[in-house]
Amino acid sequence: MMDGIVIAAHGRHYLVHVEGERLHCVTRGKKSDIAVGDQVDIKRTSPDQGVIESFAERKTLLYRSDQFKSKLLAANVTQLFIVIATEPGFSDDLVSRSLVAAEAGGIAASLILNKTDVADLLPKARERVALYASLGYPVHEVSAKARPEDTVALLAPMLRDQSTILIGQSGMGKSSLINLLVPDADIATREISAALDSGKHTTTFTRLYQLADGNIIDSPGFQEFGLYHLSEGMLERAFREFQPFLGHCRFYNCHHLKEPGCAVLEGVHEGRIATQRHELYQQLVHESSQTIGY
Ligand code: GDP
Ligand code: ZN
Repeated sequence: MMDGIVIAAHGRHYLVHVEGERLHCVTRGKKSDIAVGDQVDIKRTSPDQGVIESFAERKTLLYRSDQFKSKLLAANVTQLFIVIATEPGFSDDLVSRSLVAAEAGGIAASLILNKTDVADLLPKARERVALYASLGYPVHEVSAKARPEDTVALLAPMLRDQSTILIGQSGMGKSSLINLLVPDADIATREISAALDSGKHTTTFTRLYQLADGNIIDSPGFQEFGLYHLSEGMLERAFREFQPFLGHCRFYNCHHLKEPGCAVLEGVHEGRIATQRHELYQQLVHESSQTIGY
């Protein structure tokens, strides 16, 4: 048996980094319950192939949304970088959903505001990120294109000893940032793609890049986190600003939707909770009640 880390996953096929080599692995049976970032025990079956026998207990687990279900995205992530930019406009809905995924998963989250060189749009972007900063999420301003050295100097130390996943809507500059932070990212991607896909067609898949000290996870084509598996209790705890109000509602089993004497709704009326955040909470309660979860 050998210990390895899953660096890419495609269906039931996994690329596992083990003892300085990459092995193409499968799981036993029909299961595909392994995620990128999993620490696995493998048995080598040929010089470049193996079978995953088991995986270690996960420190954290993130899910992506797939046809109204939560599917495994990545294991053992310790921090989430949400990449947004001055232009094109970013979605508050996506930012807050990502923050909910991080909170529910016990993962630290930061916002990376890219393209700060677009000076005329910077004030507006700063105004919009102020909400997240007020909730205690760090906001880091960078410019991957105009100030690459400063960007690396700021972000690289934050990656040390961490397993960091970068997510963002397309056009925000996530690829530009990955290319700055991971030397030879393009080459690694081509190799991984060839090894997993055996040259058929390149699909998008989550991949993990190993740095000297830490990991970066990229999930091209990523749309949205899966939040369907979260219970109402988990959802209310995932909104940081709700916490001081919880336990003060008139009804102990208050859903914070329309109930009289709801302390959370009171917080919204007083402007201590942003309306857009409470609207998202309502939407997520609705979505998780519509589906079976996993
Ligand atoms: P992705 O879709 O998030 O991976 O974004 P890309 O990295 O492909 O970048 C999208 C576009 O934004 C490209 O044309 C980049 O050259 C541009 N871009 C990336 N970073 C910056 C930046 O800091 N400033 C400006 N002005 N443009 C940037
Ligand atoms: Zn309430």
